[in-house]
Amino acid sequence: MAATKQPQPGVEPEQAPESLDACRRCALWEHATQAVPGVGPRHAPMMIVGEQPGDQEDLQGKPFVGPAGAMLDRALEEAGVARKAVYVTNAVKHFKWEPRGKRRMHKTPGQREIDACHYWLDRETGKVEPKVIVALGSTALKSVLRNSKATLQASMGHAIEHEGHAIIATYHPSFALRAPDPETRERAYKAIVDALREAHRLVTHHRTR
Ligand code: SF4
Repeated sequence: MAATKQPQPGVEPEQAPESLDACRRCALWEHATQAVPGVGPRHAPMMIVGEQPGDQEDLQGKPFVGPAGAMLDRALEEAGVARKAVYVTNAVKHFKWEPRGKRRMHKTPGQREIDACHYWLDRETGKVEPKVIVALGSTALKSVLRNSKATLQASMGHAIEHEGHAIIATYHPSFALRAPDPETRERAYKAIVDALREAHRLVTHHRTR
């Protein structure tokens, strides 16, 4: 006989919370310091979506303030995009991690967590209404496209029209930081800069039409 799935304590997938802090749609809130909301102008033409908060983001309550954020800042500058003009957020708002010694090591969110947290990303895209969304990494891409089978490999190098937004997919800066060899790191960083440049071009194009 198939085992009946037991609900996890403190998890309410159908909950429609009024605030991120009250969210119990998945179990990630339990071991995180706090939820990390997106930041940026209300009607930013460009939205950047990452995966989830990292260790520093979890502690500070802001997105992209750790090492990956420093790389994103560098890439934005090189692409000619002002970070303060961009809305920056994550597909998943609580830090998923596992202990390794005294450190908290990043753990990739599962599809169930991506789906649960899409509730918040959907609210952000509805509020900001960006022309262009840059998805950093495959978790962000799956969430933005609402497609669990979406891959970076098939989606990079061209804009994808989706629900009124142009979606540009590229690597997450963490990949460009952690890839084992310098050539891959350099190639990934360049791809991020190119994607941001293309996103900027599309934003400008939309504005002048
Ligand atoms: S990760 Fe997202 S869905 Fe899960 S509890 Fe946090 S805010 Fe809610």
